[in-house]
Amino acid sequence: MLGDRDVRKMIEKTFDKIYDNLEHISNKNDPDIIHVLEASRCTRLSYYERKDPNSAPGNANKVSILLKDGIRRSFSNVEGEYKVDNLIIQGTADTIVDNQYVVRFELVSKLPETSHPRDLLYLNACLFIFNKIDGVLIYMTPEGQTLEFFVTKNNRMFEEVVRRARILSTLLKENKVPIIEPSDLCLNCKYYERCYYRERKISTLSLESLFGRGKKE
Ligand code: SF4
Repeated sequence: MLGDRDVRKMIEKTFDKIYDNLEHISNKNDPDIIHVLEASRCTRLSYYERKDPNSAPGNANKVSILLKDGIRRSFSNVEGEYKVDNLIIQGTADTIVDNQYVVRFELVSKLPETSHPRDLLYLNACLFIFNKIDGVLIYMTPEGQTLEFFVTKNNRMFEEVVRRARILSTLLKENKVPIIEPSDLCLNCKYYERCYYRERKISTLSLESLFGRGKKE
């Protein structure tokens, strides 16, 4: 407390405000416009974010998302779109190097062994949106370690993004919640409790009593 003002609360409110303006997704009310981010991640999460968003995630998650966005903002953030019939797929590249390579950064706590499918889908879709052949996916840790993966334009992966974007667009129009897509993303997802039961921790039950061994001995 500083005087009669709760400084921590004031800072949290400021964080919330910045966080609310964060996502690069515009036209959230138009189901015919889907951002690649929405189609490449869990479509159920994207649906909730549009139709019935939870308040911002916990402070630790919020700070990590703000850090990622801070890094993104230091690049040029190129926006583009791709039309497929009546559907518009929007995408944001972090930067395009030499007017040739589309670059996407992902801030991670630990460098992965291989690239994550949703990051590949995102970057590949950007290659179609910006009409480029090659892309670079760069994973970075807060300590500054980096790992790059090169991606070449792939039709099948883009068809998958279009398919997912169409499904999301249709379900948004019909007010139907997409199916659960179990993945590692669920563990830190703010909609976990809407998709799964919250597990109860059992502290008094031992494995021995559960399997009856304790009784015999
Ligand atoms: S908990 Fe998993 S399935 Fe549910 S919205 Fe989040 S990421 Fe999707």
